[in-house]
Amino acid sequence: MDREERLTETIRRNAIRVGLTEIGDVDVSELEFEEWVRDFCREGCRSYNRSWACPPAVGTLEECRERCLQYGHMMLFDRCYRLKGSFDSLGIQNAMSDFKKIVDRFDELISPILGKSLFLTNEGCDRCPECTWPDAPCRFPDRLHHTIEGYGFNITKMARKAGLRYNNGPETVTFFGAVLYDF
Ligand code: SF4
Repeated sequence: MDREERLTETIRRNAIRVGLTEIGDVDVSELEFEEWVRDFCREGCRSYNRSWACPPAVGTLEECRERCLQYGHMMLFDRCYRLKGSFDSLGIQNAMSDFKKIVDRFDELISPILGKSLFLTNEGCDRCPECTWPDAPCRFPDRLHHTIEGYGFNITKMARKAGLRYNNGPETVTFFGAVLYDF
């Protein structure tokens, strides 16, 4: 087994260990940074302009592109959560928060193996009761995960290409994250 195969195996093993549902490879050369996704953040997300994890704090789409293209590989991952009915907003909130903790744990486990890497996760950042954006630097820059949608990624399309299910049926919610790295 060469280094690439060993690392891939380690990432997959730890993805299962932390409780991720699916993982799949994304071709970095095919990444699309789409302005309309950013428009959606601006118009429809309560975290927009309120966190270092979201636009505009994550930089322009061109800056996001440059950051991502420093890496040769990208892995998309998700976790599906069951809800108690179609209007289970507390369930969605808890799932959102749980997914962030899972990504934190995944980062802790595989970053020492990967070395330099870039983790992206779901909506906003709830690490602090109140974010310092824009008045002061992030309190935990080493643990800051930018949001995947904030980079202009169409997750529906990306999931399909990576072989992941975007929608897992009624009364479920699925959150996505990604890690970019080099072998
Ligand atoms: S870690 Fe704290 S300061 Fe940094 S983005 Fe998250 S909430 Fe804001």
